Amino acid sequence: MTDLVDEILRRVVSVIGPGPHALHEPQLGDLEKKMLARCIDSGYVSSVGPMVTEFEKQLGDFVGSRYVVATVNGTAALHLALLAAGVRIGDEVLVPSLTFAATANAVVYCGATPHFVDVEASTMGMCPEILSDHLDQIIGENENEVINRRTGRRLAAIVPMHTFGHPCDIEAIIRVADKYGVPVVEDAAESLGSRRGEKHTGTFGLAGVVSFNGNKIVTTGGGGAILTDDQNLADKVRHLATTAKRAHPWRYEHDAVGFNYRMPNLNASLGLAQLERLDNAIESKRRLAEFYADAFNSLVGVDFVEEPAGTFSNYWLCAVSIEDADNSQQEELLSRAAKAGLFMRPPWQPQHLAASFADCPRSELSRTDRLATSLVCIPSSAGLK
Ligand SMILES: *Cc1c(COP(=O)(O)O)cnc(C)c1O
Repeated sequence: MTDLVDEILRRVVSVIGPGPHALHEPQLGDLEKKMLARCIDSGYVSSVGPMVTEFEKQLGDFVGSRYVVATVNGTAALHLALLAAGVRIGDEVLVPSLTFAATANAVVYCGATPHFVDVEASTMGMCPEILSDHLDQIIGENENEVINRRTGRRLAAIVPMHTFGHPCDIEAIIRVADKYGVPVVEDAAESLGSRRGEKHTGTFGLAGVVSFNGNKIVTTGGGGAILTDDQNLADKVRHLATTAKRAHPWRYEHDAVGFNYRMPNLNASLGLAQLERLDNAIESKRRLAEFYADAFNSLVGVDFVEEPAGTFSNYWLCAVSIEDADNSQQEELLSRAAKAGLFMRPPWQPQHLAASFADCPRSELSRTDRLATSLVCIPSSAGLK
């Protein structure tokens, strides 16, 4: 076991050189300084401004989405997308347990309850077969609404997530969702640049969400966006994000309890610079992934996590999976890596094990439990190779 941990560390260093190495560092330079200076000179630094509009336009062109609404962060984007998809107090929303807390938190912000569904090992994303079987078991006979008969609550939305940038089997998930008439909101926070076939993640469902947090492939400092082809949904989230204020040159009148969720112009200026780097960043990360894949090719008991068949991944986070891993093996690797200055991380604690979500409904979650102890993310910055 110690030998295996040694060997993993040795092979990581063979690709990226000795530490210290962060898990994921943003690429910032003169381009960012120039755009920030331009924004400051314009006087528009806050939550309106032409750079937000331009950022939304360029992002829409890049992902192939008709409407884009930029927000203060990805979590806020998820919250708004769920509200606009019709999630209400007392509903349930199906989410993976193997995800960042924000996916489940956004459900609770709507007054709804997360309902956890297991993932498949091949994509690390929500498993369409398990979703389908689970729905068959729990759905009642009500004709107009999809009700979980065990809890009596309405199943209002499904939120698949594209783990570490690798696309989940979103088309199959949407086929299941369509069969029951439940809308899909994609958590594509990690997968900007990733596609299934030619279609970009985040553009399959009713709406999708991306994040521009400092650790993501494109950063605006903090930021997020909602992607949709549905004009009504886009209008609704834009309105809710700007305190639900009616458009008027001087009156302050609001027709709902809205949110202060719009992206400031200052952040959008950073985003415009970052978008110019995006193609390069994806290319660098895919090249780094190739080197890692080669390095781990011959190591028995450890697999480098590769993009699912038929997909193009941004390889936001590179990861290895240790066969037959139990907590102690993962723990030893992580502590030895920390000593060597190599920033490695386990996946998130599965959300069904978090105290806040301990009582939430769920499918059987054995794959989630296994991946939580077998996966380890390794240094993945675009600048590494
Ligand atoms: C980063 C992330 C989010 C939201 O991120 P913010 O930090 O709020 O921008 C949501 N879901 C997943 C899976 C993420 O990785």
